[in-house]
Amino acid sequence: MQISIIGSGYVGLVAGACFASTGNTVFCVDHNAEKISGLNKGLIPIYEPGLEELVKRGISNNRLKFTTSLQEAVAASEVIFMAVGTPPLPTGEPDLSYLKKAVQDVAKFMNGYRLIVNKSTVPIGSHQVVADWMAEHTQHPVDVASNPEFLKEGSAIEDFLKPDRVVIGTEKEEVYKKIAELYAPFVKQGNPILWMDPISAEITKYACNSFLATRISFMNELSQLCEKVGGDIEEVRKGMTTDVRIGKHFLYAGAGYGGSCFPKDIQALIETAKKNKVALEIVSSAEAANERQKKHLAEKIKKFYDGKLKNKTIALLGLAFKPDTDDIREAPAISIIDELLKAEVKIQAFDPAAMNNMKTIYKDKITYSTTLYDACKGADALVLVTEWNEFKQLDFQKVKSLLKSPVIFDGRNIYHPEKMKSLGFAYYGIGRRPLT
Ligand code: NAD
Repeated sequence: MQISIIGSGYVGLVAGACFASTGNTVFCVDHNAEKISGLNKGLIPIYEPGLEELVKRGISNNRLKFTTSLQEAVAASEVIFMAVGTPPLPTGEPDLSYLKKAVQDVAKFMNGYRLIVNKSTVPIGSHQVVADWMAEHTQHPVDVASNPEFLKEGSAIEDFLKPDRVVIGTEKEEVYKKIAELYAPFVKQGNPILWMDPISAEITKYACNSFLATRISFMNELSQLCEKVGGDIEEVRKGMTTDVRIGKHFLYAGAGYGGSCFPKDIQALIETAKKNKVALEIVSSAEAANERQKKHLAEKIKKFYDGKLKNKTIALLGLAFKPDTDDIREAPAISIIDELLKAEVKIQAFDPAAMNNMKTIYKDKITYSTTLYDACKGADALVLVTEWNEFKQLDFQKVKSLLKSPVIFDGRNIYHPEKMKSLGFAYYGIGRRPLT
């Protein structure tokens, strides 16, 4: 099939490379000319394991084309996926201006029927809004389907090539079949392609993210109770996850969730519920709990130093909102850095992939170290914010010799309190039982 994907970010680029890998010809369009020129040279603008190889293969077998020309892409494609950003507005509602511009431009270049597939995460009812926007600019017939994306940054290629399920929202069987044909190679092991109405498909995306975020916030709140009453959230987690009704995913207490999806999608769902006068109190509470949790680690550090943080130096490990990505959107590290900078703390940061992105926010307000051990040099304490694998087994003797004093704040509970104690560290996790 000849298809286009509009927007070559985390979702568009992954989707384009994966669809090209199964023999389709894919036009990846982006209005960012610099990004497109880099991609044409095989330069990948984001960190995502396995993506570079797939993109290079697609370019070399001429199935993956990068262009800024929407006209060229629309003319060549029967199916057009929308994967532009829908970032949050200050009101909490998603900014649909990128989507509106993109679909209206697509409409202007149409020379016959097209199937528009919405992969961007959009408010409930947007399939109709998109169809209306397009109708203002074309007389040609158009179908608009919803196909929410569930990939996770850090394992996006694997998630796309082996999805748990694919959701296709359309009232028309022929539209469902056309989209399902594209996904057929990815569900050979029997994972379902779910055909539903577009509104249910749009709700499904928000429901999944809100539910997962609620699980995290539930554990974060419980971890605070553990801290007060002397329990250990890790023991509690094990006790919960062995219950098959609960399962093991997204039940880790930590420094709060972030990223480009959970915070914005939850806010969007809350806004939609408000407009429709429906109480979504559980989701609202999950969001409020996360805002509190993002400040919790900084509060712990302040408490440890009795509020006297001025001129202390912190080695901060992990800037990305989670491991295996360079994405820092809504990253908990940002809340922690803001709190520490307010208290005039000096920050020596290290992240394997996200430092360039963080430089665009903090410039020279913090120091960017070349290795995690450099970050520890002369610091008063180590603060771990993102659980990259390479942080899991440190040379603790080296860390101890580099730090001014052996203090670790572990915002992701990746170290073992007993082990840290035996190594001579003062160790503070999230919701861990205090060592006597
Ligand atoms: P992104 O910001 O990484 O990429 C969006 C891209 O769209 C950018 O490269 C931008 O230049 C381009 N763009 C914007 N307007 C354009 C236009 N008019 N014409 C051409 N290109 C245009 O965003 P993302 O993380 O890939 O997310 C895209 C959508 O997918 C969002 O709605 C998001 O909520 C959703 N989503 C994201 C993830 C994720 O993990 N990132 C997962 C599932 C769903």
